[in-house]
Amino acid sequence: MSTIFESMDEWGPEKVVVVSDARTRMKGVLVIDNTARGIGKGGTRMQPTVSVGEISRLARVMTWKWAAVDLFFGGAKAGIRADPHSPYKEEILRSFVRALRNEVPQEYVYGLDMGLTENDAAIINDELGDRGAAVGTPFDLGGIPYDQLGITGFGVAEVVDEAAAAVGLAGKRVAIQGFGAVGHATAERLHHLGYSVVAISTAQGAIHDPAGLDIPGLLRLRAEVGDSLVSSVPELAIETGTELFVDADIVVPAALQDVLTEANVSRVRGRLLVEGANLPTNAGAQKMLREAGVTVVPDFIANAGGVVSAAFAMDARYSAFRPQTEQIFTSVSAKLRANTVSVLEEANRRDLTTHEAATRLAQSRVRAAMELRGKVLPF
Ligand code: NAD
Repeated sequence: MSTIFESMDEWGPEKVVVVSDARTRMKGVLVIDNTARGIGKGGTRMQPTVSVGEISRLARVMTWKWAAVDLFFGGAKAGIRADPHSPYKEEILRSFVRALRNEVPQEYVYGLDMGLTENDAAIINDELGDRGAAVGTPFDLGGIPYDQLGITGFGVAEVVDEAAAAVGLAGKRVAIQGFGAVGHATAERLHHLGYSVVAISTAQGAIHDPAGLDIPGLLRLRAEVGDSLVSSVPELAIETGTELFVDADIVVPAALQDVLTEANVSRVRGRLLVEGANLPTNAGAQKMLREAGVTVVPDFIANAGGVVSAAFAMDARYSAFRPQTEQIFTSVSAKLRANTVSVLEEANRRDLTTHEAATRLAQSRVRAAMELRGKVLPF
């Protein structure tokens, strides 16, 4: 536990609860990072490699994400070290949830992350006999299934459109890495907004058409064959990974982390890069992009549609009425577009990378809340 003590700083974490159960061999952790602006909220991950350090870092990201979108929740994250494909998944999950019954839902509410599905969220609520213990539950339980609705990708596309208008690239050519929950919904909305999507990829390959891909056709194919849709047009195939470097005006990494570093970022030809994925660029790459005049919209601004919908789901937890999804889309669009403008302006005004500007904005909001609650000495 000494490493956890060393990772504690002026922001948090405020609380770290490590639990285990001999019978199911469950091991898990809840990290509540900073609750100055509201109770802890962040997804719950199940992976064989989960560590206390990893969950702590993700909880801190949530602190900044909530503050950056100006929603009143605190940063938190939970992790269970187990195989999500285990036949004992439900037993492991239920024992984790029982072990944290003192914290949930008063201090933390579960959400979805890697390894946890909408049905698992329903199991959590069942275990605690409380509809408010987890969000991300299925539509049939009154929940908001955000991935199914494609809200995060919709938000990424709205951000692309706002930033593109600011830098004179509205309606231009876009290359998207990843065609999953985020990537396909980004492509769908951008197509609708009149952009030409010239390249996409999945784990099974990448395709490029300088004249613009048939996005409605590819979306239909995805519904039938999933990731292998890219094999349907072998004549358009390019090497996987190079979709980020094709001749396009706008680039949207929406799959993996760490795909753009100092070693390859100079190959990006677009003038606007919108981070749909979490952590696709490192700090060195961000600096190089800025120096090269490429506008970057950071991940926690661009993909915040997920947290906005989680906030709606939080409010809807105890309601008898089905959530009105149109209102979520409208709110995601308005919030993300406004944030994009303020981060781009702030970065220019202070000569910072957009990541630095967005982090400063989030930190100033958390700091203000901490001061008001008497948690820190004033500046
Ligand atoms: P997903 O599993 O639904 O889709 C991932 C996509 O990336 C798939 O199309 C997959 O084939 C593709 N892919 C995998 N490896 C690839 C490779 N080497 N080259 C090209 N494509 C590859 O995941 P998702 O939910 O769309 O998440 C994508 C990113 O967005 C992640 O970084 C995630 O953390 C982030 N994110 C997701 C949400 C959300 O609401 N789903 C919210 C915020 C951030």
